[in-house]
Amino acid sequence: MPAGRCAVIGSGMSGLCSAVLLAEAGWKVTVFEQHAVPGGLLQRFKRGRRWFDTGMHFITGSQPGGIFRRILARLQVLDQVEFLPLDTRRQFTVRVPEVGELDVPTGIAAGLGALRSRWPEQAAGLDRFTERLFATLVAYGWLDSLAPPGTPPAPELDHQRTVAEVLAECGITGPCARLVGSLSSILAQRAEHCPFPLFCTFAGSGLAGAWRVRHGGTGLVDPLIARLRSLGGELHLRNGVAAIRHADRVASAVVDERGVEHPVDAVVGSCHPAEVIRLAGSGGFRPSFISKVAETPDSASALIVFIELSAHAGIGPSHQFSRLPTGEDLYYVAPADFDPGELPSLEAMVWIPAGDAAPWRDSRLGQRPEAYLEWKRDWEHRLVEQVCFHHPHLRPLIGRVWSSSPLTIRDYIRSRGGGAMGLSHDVGWLGSAPLSMRNHLRNVFLVGQSVGHPGVLGTSIAAFALVGSLTGRDLRADLV
Ligand SMILES: Cc1cc2nc3c(=O)[nH]c(=O)nc-3n(C[C@H](O)[C@H](O)[C@H](O)COP(=O)(O)OP(=O)(O)OC[C@H]3O[C@@H](n4cnc5c(N)ncnc54)[C@H](O)[C@@H]3O)c2cc1C
Repeated sequence: MPAGRCAVIGSGMSGLCSAVLLAEAGWKVTVFEQHAVPGGLLQRFKRGRRWFDTGMHFITGSQPGGIFRRILARLQVLDQVEFLPLDTRRQFTVRVPEVGELDVPTGIAAGLGALRSRWPEQAAGLDRFTERLFATLVAYGWLDSLAPPGTPPAPELDHQRTVAEVLAECGITGPCARLVGSLSSILAQRAEHCPFPLFCTFAGSGLAGAWRVRHGGTGLVDPLIARLRSLGGELHLRNGVAAIRHADRVASAVVDERGVEHPVDAVVGSCHPAEVIRLAGSGGFRPSFISKVAETPDSASALIVFIELSAHAGIGPSHQFSRLPTGEDLYYVAPADFDPGELPSLEAMVWIPAGDAAPWRDSRLGQRPEAYLEWKRDWEHRLVEQVCFHHPHLRPLIGRVWSSSPLTIRDYIRSRGGGAMGLSHDVGWLGSAPLSMRNHLRNVFLVGQSVGHPGVLGTSIAAFALVGSLTGRDLRADLV
């Protein structure tokens, strides 16, 4: 497609990466963001003097020389993003009843090696599993560098096959199978529903290396915005797209929320597909696509607790996984243990069904009823108690506590219903038949976590895939 004017809807990771790549390719790009703060799920917010992250705790595939750093290098922002020290001997520490405590080092082979040492009787099964994981990463293409050179690709990306099935086929059983399967929870998934290729990309790149960056989401978003502007691109905040004008299968303009019409040659919708369908209105998408988006449930949502500490947590630059007595997988991190320049705090989160906040669905930001606040306080208490169960020394350090819920996610980024990862990627839903980036309108394209793989890495790869197909260039080749 020849370069022209492009409107990008949304300033999350996928929108900004698409915008930079298009601007580099000569497009005149304008990013429209409905919210006052850019970054979508990568935005941060401030309480007191502390900054907290909403949807970025670690970046998979971010090991030195790894795929994510090569993506940043290709976008010409790598030197402005500061990766923070990570305890590579234990990038993840898992503490769950059937396993006890297990430290997982960086590197896929090393990480799975730690499991082999814990469960020597599962070694052969783990080897088979590792082989299938590497073969799948090679077949996926974008992540082939995570596999040892010469690894043959899997014959196909079998989106119908679940992680639980592959574990069983490899002969991995018991607590070892449950622990490997529980890596699906990084993606708000369960091993019984998580498509194996999705697991491989996210858990594989997570095992390879899960670094953090200085200033969290902002540390990624700000350099991307600066790069976009240096290429002549624009970002409009507090001014979303209100409608996409089209006729004869071609979009001709977007109308912003102030009523101004902007002529376009292409539109990239990086927000929830239901929102893009709404903006395009009648005749914008094929009925089959509209029903698919309507019928596919959203992914799980999240309950995040933000905790002020009066001193450094001292739990180290690593990511902590645990499980609540009620069964939810808990993730927590002490950002200032990675970056001593930050004021001490903790972020702790669990995935919960968006429907859990349904009783307060009709309430508005800043005017939520007392019952909702009480529900959140109960969660805050449970998460704080679990963290203190593992680290009793933290109890006297805990100051104020805040939390966000599915309603927060829904209202800040217009994620339908509050899903954390957009449309569900489970087998049976998008897992078995991913959404295509193109539909009825010839110059309207979808990108982002509902369409491609979720996560910082997944959504940036989706942007490369989209812009590669628009410009007719194999952008994958640039990442070697
Ligand atoms: C709690 C939580 C924790 C997470 N932790 C991690 C992690 O540690 N590591 C990781 O890799 N991933 C993590 N993720 C996932 C990751 O944050 C997302 O997959 C990714 O940021 C999504 O980017 P996106 O561009 O697809 O969408 P979004 O970030 O949702 O961006 C879409 C943008 O579109 C805007 N928008 C919506 N409607 C309109 C409109 N009409 N006009 C203009 N703009 C509009 C929204 O405001 C938003 O800014 C987490 C997610 C959550 C929820």
